[in-house]
Amino acid sequence: MTTANTTGTTMLAEGVRAEAAIDLAALNSNLAALRERTPSADLMAVVKADGYGHGALPCALEALAAGVRWIGTATPDEALALRAAGIGPEQARILCWLWTPGGPWARALRDRLDISISGQWALDELLAAVRETGVPARVHLKADTGLGRNGCQPRDWPDLVDAARRAEAAGELRVVGIWSHFACADEPGHPSIQAQLDAFAVALAYAERAGLRPEVRHIANSPATLLLPGSHYDLVRTGLAMYGVSPVPEVGTPADFGLRPVMSLSARLALVKQLPGGHGVSYGHKYITPGETTVGLVPLGYADGIPRHASSAGPVQIAGKWYTVAGRVAMDQFVVDLGGDTPAVGEEVLLFGNGERGEPTAEDWARASDTIAYEIVTRIGARVPRRYFGASHG
Ligand SMILES: *Cc1c(COP(=O)(O)O)cnc(C)c1O
Repeated sequence: MTTANTTGTTMLAEGVRAEAAIDLAALNSNLAALRERTPSADLMAVVKADGYGHGALPCALEALAAGVRWIGTATPDEALALRAAGIGPEQARILCWLWTPGGPWARALRDRLDISISGQWALDELLAAVRETGVPARVHLKADTGLGRNGCQPRDWPDLVDAARRAEAAGELRVVGIWSHFACADEPGHPSIQAQLDAFAVALAYAERAGLRPEVRHIANSPATLLLPGSHYDLVRTGLAMYGVSPVPEVGTPADFGLRPVMSLSARLALVKQLPGGHGVSYGHKYITPGETTVGLVPLGYADGIPRHASSAGPVQIAGKWYTVAGRVAMDQFVVDLGGDTPAVGEEVLLFGNGERGEPTAEDWARASDTIAYEIVTRIGARVPRRYFGASHG
């Protein structure tokens, strides 16, 4: 999986169709930059969805090498996979928060995962597994302070807290965390931010009165970590920022926040050819060559995570020059109009990277596809091999 290579982010090896180069040294330096912003809070490395497309295990290992002791995933299966890969309870607390009926609660208890509980049904299933396994649970109670997604509504909070407190008194679990999640932390000044902080304070105060003594209170994601120091509490949960992508592109670039993009996506030109004027390009002929021109074939498509919405919009860089996707992005390939230029077949096509060579960024692709950069990096498909370099853990 990991090949040591420090020669750079964009040197495609011979015979490689395309690759996502993952700069673990950048990840490490991003973690250091984020920790500098949160001197009094711990940092959780969020590696859900295969590390936002960067690879959950290598990124988790690099985070551990950088001194991080909390890892976050969405599903329990993602967390269990990290334990199975050898990240033990003495190395990292792993919190997972997206539970569905059936768990797997018992496996989570045996693997010493930290378990988020948002409602009574989940607490009931968890306690049944505690009795079955004899392993007490480590629980983070999640409050819905206004996101309106997962988490316990204020009206149900007292009952959930009281039930958890009773189970704690019975030795069945320990409430180690109280937490919540923002709706609009990426929109500075949005009124929901203060409202959620107020609701979180109320939820914490009730838990305290009920006798809970959590080790960590946490609500901040990447945008809150960068923009809302008052929200950091004891722990911040950073995903996107850790991967060097700006969660608030209207406010600042990665560099503005001291972050370096971790993923660079490139491919090799598969064909360069002349097309006459008036020639349709790709499915539906949504692009017609305005005159005699040259086109290049890029062997990446929506099966690789290139958004079909980037048709006739996505930017690439070839031999130092930017070009735009011409016509539809297909499943496996797309075309760029080279405007008469004739780069060599096999030339490297840089879709996005850290910008050091003047290439487009994931944020540029997000704009071209009318989406967010989270989606761009996370959806890079399994067919694109990842090449890791710069790891500090060898
Ligand atoms: C994904 C996620 C995060 C990380 O969000 P970023 O904006 O990528 O930092 C934090 N908390 C929860 C609950 C999440 O689902």
